[in-house]
Amino acid sequence: MKAYFDKIYKGTYKEFVQKISESLDREKKEFIVTANPETFMIGDSNPAFDSILRADHTTIVPDGIGVVKAANMLGIPLKDRITGVELCQDLLRLLDNKSKRLYLFGAREEVGQALLKKIKGTYPNIEILGYTDGYVQEKERAMEEIVKKEPDVILVALGIPHQELLIDKYYERASKGIFLGVGGSFDVLSGMKKRAPRIFIKCNMEWLYRIVSEPKRIGRFYKSNVRFIKKVRLLQRGTGHED
Ligand code: UDP
Repeated sequence: MKAYFDKIYKGTYKEFVQKISESLDREKKEFIVTANPETFMIGDSNPAFDSILRADHTTIVPDGIGVVKAANMLGIPLKDRITGVELCQDLLRLLDNKSKRLYLFGAREEVGQALLKKIKGTYPNIEILGYTDGYVQEKERAMEEIVKKEPDVILVALGIPHQELLIDKYYERASKGIFLGVGGSFDVLSGMKKRAPRIFIKCNMEWLYRIVSEPKRIGRFYKSNVRFIKKVRLLQRGTGHED
């Protein structure tokens, strides 16, 4: 897991958006993974996801506060959180300013349609190439077709690690595009699900809001976060048996 921390993006949020803006201008491909403790724990136990996290062609950004705090404990100071929701909003703004092309893949059909409506109303210059609902049977075929359309930004909302594994399978073939796995961000951006109130975000307690509003997450949260903290402590003591 130490390798993930070494690789994680260490600049500010603003610098990251600037980097992506330049990649859009130059039509340079990007594969961004937004990381929270669960992301790193999955990487530790799933070899395919582990190679995605380690690959040169992926950029890991610190989404969850747990990742930022753990990095600090390991002496890797991170300047900002870079959350999937905010990144989506900035990507949409950039696409609108640059009149570029977007494809959306994932979430329930009604969520996707609500999001499309919002994007059309707010960002009239974005060329929307299409939306594919996240529950189609043949996700690989869908992704193959999406890549062929050559969007400038492809947002994939299928949850981790499925979205990253799917992106990785077709990334090589894409001639351009910013690929971003966004988990549940479509639910929030569409307005179908509320993001935590500002005060929770400001106090770095957004995770608590998510658990309270969706108690079914408790098991998943507890399992990955407790294991994550244990692992980070081992790394801190230099006994993490890591490379
Ligand atoms: N999802 C999907 N197809 C699936 C499974 C999930 O489109 O087969 C969507 C789901 O509707 C939700 C997102 O993937 O919008 C996952 O959300 P979650 O909050 O669990 O993701 P996380 O950010 O925790 O990975």
